[in-house]
Amino acid sequence: MSKRTKTIIIGAGAAGIAAASKLLQKGMNDFVILEANDRIGGRVHTLNFGENVVDLGAQWVHGESGNVVFELASKHNLLGSLPNLLDPTKYNFVTSKGEIIPKDESNEALTIYFNITKNAQEELKEETGTFGNYFIKEYYKIFNEKSFASRARAAEYLSWMEKMENSIECSDSWFDISAKRLTEYWECEGDPLLNWKERGYKTLFDLLLKKIPNAEERLPVTERIEFEKVVTTINYSSGEDVMVTTRDGCEYFASHVIFTGSLGVLKEKHSTMFVPPLPQKKQRVIKGLNIGTANKVFLEFPHRWWPEDTASFDIIWPEEDKKEFLKTYGQSNEWLCDVFSLFTVVYQPNLLCAWIVGKNARYMETLSDVDVFDGLYLLLKRSLGKHYDVVKPTKILRSKWHTDEHFRGSYTFQSTISEQMDVRPRDLAEPIMMDGNKPVILFAGEATHDHYYSTVHGAVETGFREADRLIDFERRLNSHL
Ligand SMILES: Cc1cc2nc3c(=O)[nH]c(=O)nc-3n(C[C@H](O)[C@H](O)[C@H](O)COP(=O)(O)OP(=O)(O)OC[C@H]3O[C@@H](n4cnc5c(N)ncnc54)[C@H](O)[C@@H]3O)c2cc1C
Repeated sequence: MSKRTKTIIIGAGAAGIAAASKLLQKGMNDFVILEANDRIGGRVHTLNFGENVVDLGAQWVHGESGNVVFELASKHNLLGSLPNLLDPTKYNFVTSKGEIIPKDESNEALTIYFNITKNAQEELKEETGTFGNYFIKEYYKIFNEKSFASRARAAEYLSWMEKMENSIECSDSWFDISAKRLTEYWECEGDPLLNWKERGYKTLFDLLLKKIPNAEERLPVTERIEFEKVVTTINYSSGEDVMVTTRDGCEYFASHVIFTGSLGVLKEKHSTMFVPPLPQKKQRVIKGLNIGTANKVFLEFPHRWWPEDTASFDIIWPEEDKKEFLKTYGQSNEWLCDVFSLFTVVYQPNLLCAWIVGKNARYMETLSDVDVFDGLYLLLKRSLGKHYDVVKPTKILRSKWHTDEHFRGSYTFQSTISEQMDVRPRDLAEPIMMDGNKPVILFAGEATHDHYYSTVHGAVETGFREADRLIDFERRLNSHL
């Protein structure tokens, strides 16, 4: 099969759907969206589970001011706030062996953690080196002035803090994160952890497609999506039309292509996907930016066995506990030592969601559901079973963002390598031009946003940005005719 359109959008995630929505609203309706999966959303993946829905990918709207997702959703009162996660007293620290840590001690540790990360934005501007080094220096400065626990316990908290930070940045280690580059990420002011109540993040697409507020005014985007179309080559060698080929042998021709696949997809496939190969500058930025793995595992229980206002159970691993655990249960269970927190889930009274990041998140993806289920049940029994009536979960649901060839990771961060190579998301965003002024291959997606990379609001902005680039180009072209 062969097809011709003005524009091809590759990917029906937040960036791709945002671009499509903008093009349609400006009357540019000659496009097709090629999506490798059988659903829209990409790293926004809302599924029915438990008594409600859960998000395997993006879950929170981070902030209000300047956040395009907040602007779209708040008009219709779609977002909820639950301050538990910002309140140190709602965290419940335990050791892996089942010792409950007194709240006044863990409150102090968490307050230090929150303060260091809050103040970091300003102070990191002067910092050279890694975020890990900066954090450790600040942490022990405070600890040495006023120790809130034994030195060994302070180190155990520190290790938990690293895992938490890795989950925010999506790094394997906080010694990978460039301290200076963190200041280029912009926080949107306002509540940083807004939720979609009982609807899930997929509601964003109803907003982008204008199904909300009025389904009759829905933009006809879904009918322009071709699902299960895995793009294998993007050939822009002719100097005229770009030819896009999909794995099932179909060919598509267009004047412009907006590519929205993740940085992980680009890292793995750019050298075979683009013909001719991408310019050196583009190849350098693909190499120099980073994408790690963060995964969630949802467990459903027959009933809630934890106090209602719990935000999370947070596990720390004293060296001796860890040694004993590995001796008893074997190295194959080492991944459990990186499950740093199990969070309660809004609008889901009987669920806990375990988070795991980095190398062991990738290892966990290789295990069967049964192994992950048994492992987490063992961890819960061991760490909480003495104080709570931990019951066996009834169901499990988890993400595998690294194994999935259409993602190969969760979200982007900037490492010391990005800094050394002097590459930034804006280098990834630069389009490939023809004849000086015609954008032929355009790049959108969270990894192309200089300040909101790693987020959905960042991805949406980049989709709008690239649609605007095409709209501008067409306007200039038409004014010359
Ligand atoms: C576990 C997790 C938690 C997160 N939590 C949050 C959060 O709370 N808040 C927040 O703001 N952000 C969060 N994020 C990040 C957020 O989900 C992403 O930044 C955003 O969804 C990325 O959108 P995108 O359009 O850039 O890319 P994607 O969503 O990856 O969309 C790209 C699309 O391209 C498709 N594709 C890939 N390759 C091909 C191909 N060869 N051919 C055709 N199609 C292809 C993919 O299937 C996909 O649908 C989280 C992400 C994860 C994984």
